[in-house]
Amino acid sequence: MKKYIGCDLGGTNLRAAIVDVDDGTVLHQMNIPTLAREGHEAVMKRMAELFLQIIQSAGMNKEDIGGIGIGVPGVLDLEKGETLFLPNLPGTWPHIPLGDTITELTGLPTALLNDVRSITYGEWRFGAGRGVDTVAVFAIGTGVGGGLVINGQLHLGIGGTAGELGHITIDFNGPRCGCGNYGCLEAYASGPAIAAMGMKAVSQGLSTQISTLCNYDLNRITPELIAKASLAGDETAMDIYERAGFSLGIAAANICVSVGPRRIIIAGGVSQAGDLLLVPIRRTLRERVTVMPVEQVEVIQSQLGNNAGVIGAACWVAKAS
Ligand SMILES: [Zn+2]
Repeated sequence: MKKYIGCDLGGTNLRAAIVDVDDGTVLHQMNIPTLAREGHEAVMKRMAELFLQIIQSAGMNKEDIGGIGIGVPGVLDLEKGETLFLPNLPGTWPHIPLGDTITELTGLPTALLNDVRSITYGEWRFGAGRGVDTVAVFAIGTGVGGGLVINGQLHLGIGGTAGELGHITIDFNGPRCGCGNYGCLEAYASGPAIAAMGMKAVSQGLSTQISTLCNYDLNRITPELIAKASLAGDETAMDIYERAGFSLGIAAANICVSVGPRRIIIAGGVSQAGDLLLVPIRRTLRERVTVMPVEQVEVIQSQLGNNAGVIGAACWVAKAS
């Protein structure tokens, strides 16, 4: 059986893995810096070199590889295999034929997918979403990404743009989001939004362990540091996670009434906070959703960690080719 390459194109790191798509195992992996400032031509060349190199260092031949799936951080046109807008990469990559270019340089079929949709697909196939047909993923990191599997299909929508759960409006009078809209979930529950609540508490002079843990240096406040204070029983820190979890719960309530997911999966770096987020999300769902059997909706943490994206991208190209 052929193996597939899954790639995670990050703003800082470029990660490739050879994946057995029958069981979701990562057989071999390599990381190199993206060097995104060199521009898209240089990055695509480095990607192609990385793919050829990983095949070689795994002791395989090109004939053993069925294709390359690339998880891309931004907006894509899946029909054309083009990038449209990659906010975290210099030059933002407008109308760059990433799929065709990689195919040309490697001779292997290539498929693109948004990075969080790759995580969603990976978690559904081999992680926290296994065994159920409808799943929603919230990936919480620098932003809040998302993805939906509905009736056993990754839901793509127009050009693969569906599933941006971080940009669900949860307060139409809310603050401006990076996307230009107002009151998006991302403005309340992303890593930077959680850190900002900690910074505000410290600069207001509230009595909180966050102050001592960061040594009164606001730049050192991270979601992890606030989680540490919460686990030590600090009320201000617990309240910050309560508020972030409540916002996620409101967005999740909207997903429950619209798609009726069997599972809601919380992924991304900030999901390490575990119950600090999961408990208020579950409670908010029970309090707010009445028109569907919300007690049957499981809210759980992701299972594949950093491998979810490369596994999902590899499975995606395997399905497409
Ligand atoms: Zn937004």
